[in-house]
Amino acid sequence: MLQTKSSWNIVIPHINQANCFNGLLVVLLLFDLNFSKERDTHVDPVKRLSLGKLVTKTDGTVPIAPHNNPTSRPLRLPNTTYPLHYYLYISSHIHHEVFEYSGNVTIDIATRESTNEIVLHAKNLSDFVIKIRDLGTQDIMDDLTYSYDAYASFLIIHPVQNYQAFEAGHEYQLEILFKGLLHEDTFGIYWMAYSDEKNNTVYVTATQFEPTSARLAFPCYDEPSYKANFTISLTHSNCYTAISNMMVRQIEPYIDANDAPGQNDVSMVTTTFQTTPAISTYLVAFVISNFEYISEEYRGIKQRVYTSPPIADKGRKALKNAVRTVSMFEDYFGIKYPLAKLDHIALKKNYGLAMENWGLITYKEDSLVEQESVGLHKQLKDMLTQNHEIAHQWFGNLVSPQWWTYAWLNEGFATYFSYVVTDLIYPEYKTMDFFLTDIAERAYSYNYMTVRPMTYYVEKESEIVSVFDIISYQRAACVIKMFHHAFNQKTFVRGISKYLSKYQYAVANETDLFNEVQAAVAQDLTFSHLEWSHHSVGNIMYSWTHSEWIPIVSIVRDYEKNTITIRQRSKDQNTSEHWWIPLNFASASQPEFERTRADYFMPPIPEVTLNANELGIELRNNDWLIVNKQQTGFYHVHYNDANLWLIAKQLHDDHTVIHPLNRAAIFQDMGPLIENNEIQSVDVIFELLQYLQYEDNLIPWNQVADTIEFLGKNLFGTSSHKLFNHFVRQLIRPLFRRLFETPLHENLTNTDLMARQKVLEMACLVDLRECLDYTHNLARESIFRNVKFSNDMSYYAMDETILCLGVKYLSDEEFNEILNILSKAERETPWYDDLIYSLRCTQSPSHLQQYLNLLLCENSTKSIMNDSDSMMYLLYLFKSNRAARPVMWNFFENHYRVLCQSQMFIENFNRIAEYMTKYQRSMFLDLHSKIANELEKVGRQSSLIANDSPHVGKKVKLSETFLEKFNDQIYEWLKRHHQSTFAASLGARSSAAQIGRLFRVAGKFLRKMQERKLRL
Ligand SMILES: [Zn+2]
Repeated sequence: MLQTKSSWNIVIPHINQANCFNGLLVVLLLFDLNFSKERDTHVDPVKRLSLGKLVTKTDGTVPIAPHNNPTSRPLRLPNTTYPLHYYLYISSHIHHEVFEYSGNVTIDIATRESTNEIVLHAKNLSDFVIKIRDLGTQDIMDDLTYSYDAYASFLIIHPVQNYQAFEAGHEYQLEILFKGLLHEDTFGIYWMAYSDEKNNTVYVTATQFEPTSARLAFPCYDEPSYKANFTISLTHSNCYTAISNMMVRQIEPYIDANDAPGQNDVSMVTTTFQTTPAISTYLVAFVISNFEYISEEYRGIKQRVYTSPPIADKGRKALKNAVRTVSMFEDYFGIKYPLAKLDHIALKKNYGLAMENWGLITYKEDSLVEQESVGLHKQLKDMLTQNHEIAHQWFGNLVSPQWWTYAWLNEGFATYFSYVVTDLIYPEYKTMDFFLTDIAERAYSYNYMTVRPMTYYVEKESEIVSVFDIISYQRAACVIKMFHHAFNQKTFVRGISKYLSKYQYAVANETDLFNEVQAAVAQDLTFSHLEWSHHSVGNIMYSWTHSEWIPIVSIVRDYEKNTITIRQRSKDQNTSEHWWIPLNFASASQPEFERTRADYFMPPIPEVTLNANELGIELRNNDWLIVNKQQTGFYHVHYNDANLWLIAKQLHDDHTVIHPLNRAAIFQDMGPLIENNEIQSVDVIFELLQYLQYEDNLIPWNQVADTIEFLGKNLFGTSSHKLFNHFVRQLIRPLFRRLFETPLHENLTNTDLMARQKVLEMACLVDLRECLDYTHNLARESIFRNVKFSNDMSYYAMDETILCLGVKYLSDEEFNEILNILSKAERETPWYDDLIYSLRCTQSPSHLQQYLNLLLCENSTKSIMNDSDSMMYLLYLFKSNRAARPVMWNFFENHYRVLCQSQMFIENFNRIAEYMTKYQRSMFLDLHSKIANELEKVGRQSSLIANDSPHVGKKVKLSETFLEKFNDQIYEWLKRHHQSTFAASLGARSSAAQIGRLFRVAGKFLRKMQERKLRL
């Protein structure tokens, strides 16, 4: 429970009277807000409202009284009045651990149309004292009252007798005194505690208003389009400093007019900040703390990094980056950062990683300050976090979204351009490659749970929070990237700059953006001969911002007529969405991959057939064709098999002719097809995979990893499995040796780090000797000698991977030694968890048996039976380790009586049932009935899955079908391959025989196509 420790008074500091109120508010309001001691701060907000205590003011006027007759109404503010200027005053005694504060917000309001009410947001605030003055006549309006609508969080000020009290064209000054609570969670104004060097607790407050929490801090028009100027004053201990969006205008001693002369509390000061430009409420921010800062000034902008005193020097790197990034954004968009300063503050508690408040970015401490021995991955992520927030200073702060429908205008642009700008400043990090794995991979993976259009109307607070999701961030970033390239990068940026300058200090929606891009495109001579360039940019972009799914583009060539049929459909077969799709092409005769603007926009129709000449492509009959150069378009591409054969041949001849991102795209596009059994033949896939033995670029390896893992797991235990492992070992051995057996000469990028992990997983999955030895040695060192993994492993999931792979094949002696360590290790430590978790990867049946005993068995001294964690490990074990499945089943058969005592076992058994193949059906039914009987015998309410439930075997259906369709084909291909490579020398570039064979196959395919005149 949070409690206050003192009672206190507030006055409006005289700065307000003198400078801000222009003498309009002639009377200094003095009021007493005595708080009871030890008061519970968790008071129901609605109840608190009724506590509003009227205070007689010195001018004899009485503030308006509350009217308790709230009615439900729409959740959006009526558009009849709007704020011009806020004078916000907050007085905090946080240094004395007081979690309540007093405030005064005085708002100059304009009236758009005559109305009987002024409606604004307020939530969990109390003790309102409200007064309104007509700024024209200077009269105080004394026939008003107020209501509170808890559902909409509206404070509604209206006349006692209904009439149009507020006239169109008039301006009013609304003054509200109120009280609020500092929150423990990161909403509104919140508090956090630190220990100082002398071990004293120091309390600090900060704010988090996005998207709808400004109303928790003070009454306001809490919608982004109600921009106004803010003059903020904060009263706080003189041991603290206050920072806010703007520079400090002045700090004065605090004077309480109630105190007798000479009795003023000299330990308090009032900090007043310069007035902000027009700003949305969600971007207002302040922090009251004892923090210290380092600073740098460049181009007239002062940037400071604030941290708690013990880590005052740990922000150097962030400061340097911030200075470079702000000027890079200024240059890139040609628009100056408009404020005189930008602060960055590291907080112990922050909502998410960081928040872009204008001029005062708040961060979670470990995202801003340097830490010892943190890997490159985290360093780059932190830099991208900071640059994302800096990007918001333009996208969101300077131009704000008209409503949260357009949250993607903030988040999509900040996400994408933080990568672009980071890449420009630090080309060595290859940040745009990282975009593919960090952003695009997630955008491509979204599913039924997350699907919605980018432009999406929301209203309730919970809905507003929910649009800060994968669609507003990742999908929007990918769509913006696509248009950045499709419309010529410079042209698109010109349109964006225009948009930013046209709507600066105001709000915008997507149409405003599209119009500016349209204007820029219309002026681009490279597009001027194209019909769409003069009027369709909006339609093109709407088709992406109003659709839910991702298009799949199929390319089918007619080799005789030299035509290309392009089809589009949604990734979700049940929807009929169509898009304007920017396409560009490269071919064997024209292998140009650099120019990424659109060669052609496919209109939103299912199919179009065009002559290669019409598309401006040089394309001969036996040329390969590749669509979507450098994967800049946000869609999947499927090719007909004949074209894939031609691509495979090129990859074998000289793979470097095809851009590495497109080599990667081939696998990325094919992966889902393979996993959903939508391919016709696997031969061409294995031919494509085969080129990987020459591939030393990690980006394609990164993309192919999922396909190799999928094939390896599906083929486990089949006739093809050994041959498959042998095949993949051949592909990966040269790369493995280069990556892990030779000293590193270059600096690793993030993509390298992620790919290294995937390479390690693939190589050990297929039992590459070198990989097993390598991980085994590292795991031994780590487990038995507590040696930390070296820095080139510093990718967050790498340690876990090494431990898992390194224990795959242990000697009995090693395994027992680990059990011994575990028996002595302290439970509930990360070390214990890591070890228990990684042991699930062991392959030996007898070790697995021991592992299960350790996890579950009643006779084991270390049994962690009934522990929900151990039951979770059971599920992981079943899912991830195919070798463990028979051992586990045997174990269940022997111990089901004991296991049934745990409800968690039944829950996990139900999930394991999803992995039962139809060949295991009778075995499953047998155990199922034993478990059901046992549960009945002991009279337990059972939530056991029904034995005929459609969920049984659900998770393995696709792979069952895959094996039925393709296992024979795969076996034949692998056998042929095994025989042919047996003679050929390994590791050399494709032997003449191999190339010849591939060419013959591709040629045969083409001839077959032509003979049958098939249009695939
Ligand atoms: Zn953001």
